[in-house]
Amino acid sequence: MPNKKKKRKLRPWAFLTLVFGGLALLALLVTTLAGSLSKPIEDAALTQKVIQESEEEKTVLEQGMIPPAEEESREDLDVFHDTDSLLLLANKKHPLPDGYAPYDLVEPNVPMVFGSAPLRAQAASAIEEMFAAAANDGITLLLGSGYRSQEYQDQLYSGYSAQYGWEVADTISSRPGYSDHQTGLAADISDHDGATYLSEEMENTPEGAWLKDHAHEYGFIMRYPKGKQEITGYAYEPWHFRYVGVDYATAIYNIDPFYSFEEYFGVEGGDYE
Ligand SMILES: [Zn+2]
Repeated sequence: MPNKKKKRKLRPWAFLTLVFGGLALLALLVTTLAGSLSKPIEDAALTQKVIQESEEEKTVLEQGMIPPAEEESREDLDVFHDTDSLLLLANKKHPLPDGYAPYDLVEPNVPMVFGSAPLRAQAASAIEEMFAAAANDGITLLLGSGYRSQEYQDQLYSGYSAQYGWEVADTISSRPGYSDHQTGLAADISDHDGATYLSEEMENTPEGAWLKDHAHEYGFIMRYPKGKQEITGYAYEPWHFRYVGVDYATAIYNIDPFYSFEEYFGVEGGDYE
């Protein structure tokens, strides 16, 4: 019997010890759990960031984005001479392979000045996208000229030469084999009524201003920017746009809307040899 009494007296203490002990253990558990839970979350976020950054780096490397040229010459890079490349170079120092014609020409589905202006497939779908975006902004663009064959360029140039002599012809037309239009990646674009088509005045129209500000978003650069005649070999042509893809067009535009292909890529331009 006394044993029973003793046991009864001890029970509240045992109960309290259990309760407090349990609470202490629980607190310890919660702290540990919270700690071990929050740490992996931080680590996961960090890991995610590292993966993201290294993937961005990988994408740039995989695409082989060429950074802007400093002093070095890139004349010999295949990317400017490979006819499949979107950076295929045509200027007065770099003729195209004799008789070159792109294999994937299509007529873009956009309003045109003359009813026909073929472009390489990628440039054609980009120009459709660009004209649609312009229309959304209330800007009506017309496509004037796209791909021109070497043969047709020969007729154009011969005509100008016969009429004005070759010195004048060289200022208004490319010699056959040297035209950016023969790449199938170049487009002459007109304002809505053609009032300033092939004129420097285009820069003062809403269409010219829109193109200058937005063409890069669709992969096009102004091929013959203002003040760059000695570098590109051509006077300012606010209507002539060249498809190089969104990444390069944006990189070039971000340096300066009047930065030239020749300057960015470090390739020779200017007049004929
Ligand atoms: Zn042109």
